[in-house]
This record gives sequence, structure tokens and C-alpha cells, in this order.
Amino acid sequence: MQFVSTRQGAPKLGFEDVIITGLAADGGLYVPEQWPTLNKDEWRALRGKSYADIALAVMWPFVEGAMPRETFKAMIQDAYGSFSHRAVTPLTQLDHNQWLLELYHGPTLAFKDVAMQLLARLMDWALERADKNASIVAATSGDTGGAAIEAFKNSTRAHVFVLHPHEKVSAVQRRQMTTTGSDRVANIALKGNFDDCQDLVKAMFADTSFRNAQNLAGVNSINWARIMAQTVYYAVAALALGGPDRPVSFTVPTGNFGDIFAGYVIKQMGLPIEQLVIATNSNDILDRTLKTGRYEVTGVEPTTSPSMDIQVSSNFERLLFDLTGRDGNAVTTMMSGLKQSGAFEIPTDALAKLRAGFTSGRTDEQTVAATIANTLKTSEKLIDPHTAVAYAVARTIKSDAPMVTLSTAHPAKFPDAVKQACGVYPDLPPHMADLFERTEVFDVVENDLDAVESYISKCQ
Ligand SMILES: *Cc1c(COP(=O)(O)O)cnc(C)c1O
Repeated sequence: MQFVSTRQGAPKLGFEDVIITGLAADGGLYVPEQWPTLNKDEWRALRGKSYADIALAVMWPFVEGAMPRETFKAMIQDAYGSFSHRAVTPLTQLDHNQWLLELYHGPTLAFKDVAMQLLARLMDWALERADKNASIVAATSGDTGGAAIEAFKNSTRAHVFVLHPHEKVSAVQRRQMTTTGSDRVANIALKGNFDDCQDLVKAMFADTSFRNAQNLAGVNSINWARIMAQTVYYAVAALALGGPDRPVSFTVPTGNFGDIFAGYVIKQMGLPIEQLVIATNSNDILDRTLKTGRYEVTGVEPTTSPSMDIQVSSNFERLLFDLTGRDGNAVTTMMSGLKQSGAFEIPTDALAKLRAGFTSGRTDEQTVAATIANTLKTSEKLIDPHTAVAYAVARTIKSDAPMVTLSTAHPAKFPDAVKQACGVYPDLPPHMADLFERTEVFDVVENDLDAVESYISKCQ
């Protein structure tokens, strides 16, 4: 499979190079040149299979030609062997027609482990083949950083630099990043918010001499492998609920648009999805965009679901590329509007397609807390604030198909908000019980490109 940039100003790349490159040289994001499909019989043949078997079948069309199938199979088995639940992403029922897809059984208790565990293995494989070392720079609103550090802490080829917004992540999130003791990892607490972290990562990639000198690689959800790995659990859930012979709906707590874009991909691959619902917290740029047709950045407001406290949803660009009939010029125009004035209008045709493919809703903080309390009371299930944002929206959607809410974090990752909402303090699982006794290592750095680049250069 070949991959093209959403701005069509960068060379086509094969799978291996897409893994290492992350952001395209023209500032765009890589997407497959065409969407592969599985026919109904191929989907049916996957029913009842293990997570690893479904993962291999779903991801193979993107990887084929880059490595032997057996190599990829072993990588998948290794990546998901670290999950604490045998089903990897188990499905539980919350109410009539309401289901929860638990994506938090990985080593850092957030759904980002699902993609990062595979990406770390793919990255080492690609770097090994190219005989290169890399500096991985990543921006995190809390969960990506922990998942990346955990996945890459034993990497033989990569050194990881994670930028998190200083004092804007939960103590559990911060400690998962800062206590590994690995010398492959450096933590930058940036004096800014998540969007500042993300902007600096983009600026480092755009700084060609720095990028080349450090051999920068990206593991944010701009990396295609992240999206690819996330398509798998949509298939796992849909097959368990009767797919491909019965459509399924999904509600996804959305920040950077990576997770829900993976749902869009699986739909393109031929699995029937009735509704794909974008759920936002009060940082509701995507919900507003669907309603008004105008993508407009306002300001970031801190909430109890910090991993969704985002204004610029990078992966939305991948969708815009498809919605405009894969018109790189149209995408480039919209993205320069965003850069120059913090807003752009979605062309009429593209907007109609957006509204046909997606539904959206937003949840305020009071409703998040009430949803956590009610879900515990009526379904005996403790959910985290991100999951609650989505479940609150899911309950307002009329769906004939089974409605699956993606549960993206373990409640123990956000214990204070959960306790406040329902009175129950969620304990960390045993393998993390000593998290608050471990020694932390991180550095506070100014929100400034030179400051961050010189910090990274000095570490090498
Ligand atoms: C990252 C994250 C999200 C948002 O996912 P996107 O792919 O950025 O849309 C939601 N919930 C949790 C817990 C997360 O860590």
C-alpha cells in the first residue's frame, strides 16, 4: 500500500516510511492511497476469532508488502500480550441497547495503549531496517505521553521526548510519565496548554535542519499506524454484535479526532455502521462545526476530561481530505485559513457529506458528573469522565442498531473527578499501586520553540 499526503505536496510513501515520518513534509497527514475493503464473507469469517486474529486481518492490507505476514502476526501478539484482559477490549452491557467497549486494559489504563504498544514495535522494526536512531517528540494532553513512554521505554532505537502542559494533567497521568526511570525518556512540562504543546511539535517538524539533525519521528495520532491500530476494536465490537449482517452505532469521546476517524476507516473498509457520533466536552469545536459548517477556534477551557481539552483536532484534516473528494488544494486552503485567522468554512458539498456521515453532541461538566453517578447506580459500573462525556451523548441519540460507547480510560486515572461525582474513590489496579511512591523526573520549559529545541539537543 502507498500513502499520500492530505495536502498532496509531499511524495507518496510506503508503509515503512510512513511509520517513521509521521507528519508529511508539506504539513499534511498521510492516508492510504485507497481504502482497502473486506467483503461480507471475509468479515463473517472473523466472527468468534481472537483479538489478535481480527487485528491481523483488518490491518494486513495496509502492511502487506512491507514485511512477512508471520512477522506482523508476532508483533501483534507481543503488543497485546501486555493487556490485563484476555479479550484485550471487552464489551459490556450498560442498558437496553447500550454497550461499553472497554479500551483501558493496557499498561497505562487508557485506550492510547492499544495503538502505542503496536506502534513502538513497528517503529523499532522500521528503524532497525533503515539502520537509524530517532528522537520521538510527542505532545500530550495526558494519556498519549504515558502510553508512549510505557511503550518505548525499552526501545533500542528511539529516544522519547514528551511535552505535557505544566500543571494541566492529572497526578496519575503525570506520574505515569515521570516515574519510569528509563534513560530513553525525557519529560518536558511546558508552560502552556495542550494546543501549545501540539503547535511546538508541529513547528519542530517544520524546522528542517532540526528535524534532520535529530531524525525526528512522531507518535501523535498524526502517525498513520495509530489510526490503523485503532480500527481493530471497532471491528471486534461490531462482529460481536452481529456485524457485518447487522449495523452497529458508535459514540466516541473526541479530542484530536483520531479515535473516531478510525471508526470512519472501518466503515470505508466495508463494515456497516449506522451512526458515528462525535462526543465533545465543553471544548466543543467539532460539535459546533457540524452544526454551523464553520471550524472556529475559540479558547481551551479546562474540564474533568482533560484528554479532550483540545481545540485543533489534527486528524480532522484526514476527514476533510475525503470529504472534498481528496482535493489537496482545498485542504491546504482550509488549513491556511486556520493558521492565519483561526477559522475556516467547510465547502457546501463537503459539509453535506460530513453531516451524512456523522452526528455530534456535547456534554457539560454537570452532566458528566451526573452520568458517572447514574451509571454506577443503574448499571453497577464506574466510568471515567471521558467515557461519561460520550455515554451522556450516546443516551440522547436514537439508534436502532446497538449503540457502543467507547470507554477510553480507567476511572482510577481520574480519581478525584470520579470521587466528586459519585462518592466512590476508584483504586489503581495492583500493578500500579505504588505509583505515588515512585520518584518523578521532569523539567519545566518555557513555551518557546528555541527553548524546547535546545533542551532536546542537549539531551542527545
Ligand atoms: C486521547 C483521549 C481521548 C480523545 O481521543 P482522540 O483520538 O484524540 O479523539 C478521549 N479519551 C481519553 C481518555 C483519551 O486519552
